[in-house]
Amino acid sequence: IISNLGLHWSGSSKAIADVERPANSNKGMYGHVLVIGGSSGKSGAPAMSSLAAMRSGAGLVTAAVTPSVLPLVAAIAPELMTHALAVNPDGEISAGNLHPERLEALLKRITVLAIGPGLGTEPQTAEFVLGLLEQSRLSAVVDADGLNILAANPNRIAAIAKGRTLVLTPHPGEMARLAGKKTAEIEADRINIARDFATKYGLTLVLKGWRTLIAHPDGQIAVNTTGNPAMAKGGSGDLLTGMVAAMLAQHPHDVARAVETAVYLHGLAADITVREPGIGGDQHTLLATDSLANLYRAFH
Ligand code: AMP
Ligand code: MG
Repeated sequence: IISNLGLHWSGSSKAIADVERPANSNKGMYGHVLVIGGSSGKSGAPAMSSLAAMRSGAGLVTAAVTPSVLPLVAAIAPELMTHALAVNPDGEISAGNLHPERLEALLKRITVLAIGPGLGTEPQTAEFVLGLLEQSRLSAVVDADGLNILAANPNRIAAIAKGRTLVLTPHPGEMARLAGKKTAEIEADRINIARDFATKYGLTLVLKGWRTLIAHPDGQIAVNTTGNPAMAKGGSGDLLTGMVAAMLAQHPHDVARAVETAVYLHGLAADITVREPGIGGDQHTLLATDSLANLYRAFH
């Protein structure tokens, strides 16, 4: 029935994460993820996305955040690099980051952008994000406030999606804003709404929630089989953002399987963690960082 509906299960893609790395590997083969996010009071989101990207096999990860949260984000792991975004006098991200000198040297070394975790939606921030996405053709994952910025500027989405790999990872509320519908309307017609949006813009749409859907630009849809209600908590989505970016960094020519695998392993890590004794071993106590600590068991 599933295949007659044009659907398949996400787990069929997982084989790409099972392949051993060649002995002569170097970090340059596995991409460089740039996480752009964070704002005052929201340092954890870009930190978790960055850590999830590192734990999912990206060669290098840099977090670009405002100076106010940079030390907190940098402290999450010594392996993480940081870049201080230019800010306005009020401390918010400045559209002036688009000035070539600010970011250009860094962007030359980046292979995948992950935009949105904890970002905020101030006008200057929005202009920076839209300008960056319009001016570069780097593969990009957009989540959270990055999606809210796109939703507020629907006339700019087509140009941003054109000629690049673009993955959007909305939860139903963010999808409602993107599609100009109510959340209940999204939940009532998830498959058609996800497919229509993905094919209209030629992008990959990950519609999150129980049985996350991955809608591809060609209209194919994968249904995810992992994940559980313990993930209905702040931080869960931030991990996924980093995992998708890391998978794209490692498999730039296998976008569909990269995204499906990230979604599958993200849920699997939570499933493994919640059912075993330990600090996250209960639906109430599981935190995103517990799943992150167990990511190796999902990958293995
Ligand atoms: P966010 O709302 O951005 O933090 O994302 C939440 C993450 O947790 C997404 O990956 C969801 O698919 C997942 N999630 C939340 N609730 C559930 C649920 N009831 N069953 C399975 N996965 C869930
Ligand atoms: Mg989220």
